[in-house]
Amino acid sequence: MALEFHSVTKRFTDNSGTSLTAVQDVSFDVQEGEFVSVVGPSGCGKSTILSMTAGLYQPSEGKVLVSGEPVEGPNSHVGFMLQKDLLLPWRNIVTNIEFGLEARGMGRADRRERAMAELRHCQLDGFENHYPHQLSGGMRQRAALARTLAIDPEIILLDEPFSALDAQTKLLLQNSFAGTIAETGKTTLLITHDLGEAVLMSDRILVLSERPGSIVAEIKVDLPHRDQPLKRRVMPEVGEY
Ligand code: ADP
Ligand code: MG
Repeated sequence: MALEFHSVTKRFTDNSGTSLTAVQDVSFDVQEGEFVSVVGPSGCGKSTILSMTAGLYQPSEGKVLVSGEPVEGPNSHVGFMLQKDLLLPWRNIVTNIEFGLEARGMGRADRRERAMAELRHCQLDGFENHYPHQLSGGMRQRAALARTLAIDPEIILLDEPFSALDAQTKLLLQNSFAGTIAETGKTTLLITHDLGEAVLMSDRILVLSERPGSIVAEIKVDLPHRDQPLKRRVMPEVGEY
């Protein structure tokens, strides 16, 4: 199993010493290669679930396992991107994508080759020498996905990656991300408050209650032709962009 939550509860203590339960007794697992969404109202603990998967927070109770191993801290098995992913403004797109590879000590030529391949994969060919401010919001999110995929994580975590985008760009990116990720076959956990987005993109949806978030429903998405690239399947009128 790629990801397992076993009866996970997470409490935070604020400055005044008051304890708040963000996530309550959450158990689920995600299979290798599966695309699962977590939906729920604002403040119900979705990002907390992502942070525990990424090793940024430890559960107060219960266990989080990635590939059967407890998550003990931030690690290279898990790649994540956020609503407004910070590309480094002083680096061009290709060197932004290379950033994590540099940190892992990959040589210059290999790093460039990997970054360029990921750039093409995320439909950013020709933009390698542009700087983040020269790209649209949607393209910046694609660059952030390319950077996440470049490190070849076992699990991809996406936290509301489209919520800062306009409706049209959002729809385009929901489709292109689903297609790009399906091609990698990587296990993915998408956090969103948008049930429509979850239905469009995932194999399975976990629905959380209001805070403290606990799983109140599980929806298996069984769209026809799930293995077809979403772009062609759902919105043929959009075409390439
Ligand atoms: P969501 O992503 O579903 O909107 P979050 O997981 O961000 O919700 O937050 C769930 C609850 O936990 C909220 O009430 C939030 O204020 C609280 N919370 C999240 N992170 C922290 C933190 N580091 N310290 C204290 N409280 C936090
Ligand atoms: Mg959140």
